[in-house]
Amino acid sequence: MTQQYDYLVIGGGSGGIASARRAASYGASVLLIEANRMGGTCVNVGCVPKKTMWNASAIAERLRDAPGYGFSLERTDFDWAKIKHARDAHIARLNGIYHRGLDQSGVDKVEGYAHFESPGRIVVNDFTYSAEHILIATGSRPIVPPVAGAELGITSDGFFELEQLPKKVVTVGAGYIAVELAGVLRGLGAEVTMVLRRDAFLRTFDATVRETLMEASEASGIHFRRRSQVAALEKTNSGIGVRLESGEHIQDVDCVLWAVGRSSNSSNLQLERAGVETNGYGGITTDDFQNTNVKGIYAVGDVTGRKALTPVAIAAGRRLADRLFGQQSDAALDYENIPSVVFSHPPIGTVGMTEDEAREHFGDDIKVYSARFTNMYYAVLEHKIPTVVKLVTHGAEEKIVGCHILGDGADEMIQGFAVAVKMGARKKDFDNTVAIHPTAAEELVTLK
Ligand code: FAD
Ligand code: NDP
Repeated sequence: MTQQYDYLVIGGGSGGIASARRAASYGASVLLIEANRMGGTCVNVGCVPKKTMWNASAIAERLRDAPGYGFSLERTDFDWAKIKHARDAHIARLNGIYHRGLDQSGVDKVEGYAHFESPGRIVVNDFTYSAEHILIATGSRPIVPPVAGAELGITSDGFFELEQLPKKVVTVGAGYIAVELAGVLRGLGAEVTMVLRRDAFLRTFDATVRETLMEASEASGIHFRRRSQVAALEKTNSGIGVRLESGEHIQDVDCVLWAVGRSSNSSNLQLERAGVETNGYGGITTDDFQNTNVKGIYAVGDVTGRKALTPVAIAAGRRLADRLFGQQSDAALDYENIPSVVFSHPPIGTVGMTEDEAREHFGDDIKVYSARFTNMYYAVLEHKIPTVVKLVTHGAEEKIVGCHILGDGADEMIQGFAVAVKMGARKKDFDNTVAIHPTAAEELVTLK
């Protein structure tokens, strides 16, 4: 027997839930299939628990600074298990909120793994469902490299299962996750070594911001092994031994974190039965409208391998539902100027082109404005953390094509600046905006 819907959504994460609910709001009959916990990566093992841990480590920084502001603190013990349990309880509440939200929207749900039987039909728990429109929103999973003893390490998924703060950690990788989790662990007191296969982390970020963060991370006590690769992990009596290809052996490690990227969850879908094409990395190829190569089958979010961010998956999923069921035939997500934040210490906020990208694109027809300073917060403290702001402009009109901030508060600052950049702001629009004093953000409207 086959049950028919207007829209089948595979994956109850950021993109799938958003698209399913938007489609149902137009009156479509929708079934959402989720194999695990509702909410997907962001809610369960991504943005949400990560931000909680980043908050914890930001509090540790405040405690470090408190004596400089006149507070005498007797004890600053940290109870990892306590925040983990509070975090887990928060996530369980969110899981419930997502379930109820889908119910209220009239979306049907089924728990299980979906795979294709044919282009318009999928199977879940031996039951077949059919629809004219099928969305693949199955997300991604962490990559574990084929290194001897790799199973002794954990990925970000395992990080969120840790019951206590590891004392000595080695992170491998140089992207968002390596930088964020290394920063959290260091902030909470772990000894952290980052193994980078090149000279720096966050290779695709603006060089000024990246280099300043490398400097700040080193000053915070993070050790780097640059141009290094892990050859093997070994179990020893005192923990894990990390053998680098250089021959160096980092001993007595109690946590190795693989953070070398993520791969699309497409291999479990039997896509060949529907004829859906993937790129060499398993990412499902889509056009500007999230169409795959097969009519009636779409993909959004991490599974496409494009801009793996929660708001991107949500926006793409909603636009798709607007187009399919909301009579908005040209609804599509514009992937230009998508802002993002790295929750590092201090954080990065960024939107648009890096200086290098702009130079590659526009040649010498760019002008860059930047400033490096110490946030006033540190004026009375011995400990100093740098702030960097940078605007990349193009042409005689000095249209802002890139805005990059590193420093305390950058995570909250960038959203507003992203609106201005998206609207096509020019340097003179920033200059014409009266500064707010005393803030770090005012530097962006007073750059010379
Ligand atoms: P997901 O949210 O991963 O959802 C996919 C769902 O599909 C999963 O629930 C999975 O169980 C299900 N599924 C898979 N296969 C099947 C199948 N065959 N049948 C049924 N169900 C299936 N982004 C940000 O914007 N900000 C952040 O701060 C941020 N922090 C992050 C921190 C970490 C540690 C990680 C790992 C990611 C972070 N991200 C962040 C990225 C963000 O989590 C993802 O971009 C987002 O979750 C992608 O949404 P999605 O809908 O594409 O996939
Ligand atoms: P990224 O794609 O950001 O980075 C992966 C990193 O792994 C690269 O820097 C790469 O180094 C390195 N790498 C790849 N293979 C190896 C290897 N064999 N050995 C050593 N290093 C290797 O992946 P992440 O897993 O960090 O994050 C996945 C995505 O999730 C992000 O791109 C982002 O879109 C999203 N995310 C967003 C967050 C946010 O918004 N704050 C937070 C966390 C995740 P190199 O650059 O040197 O090639």
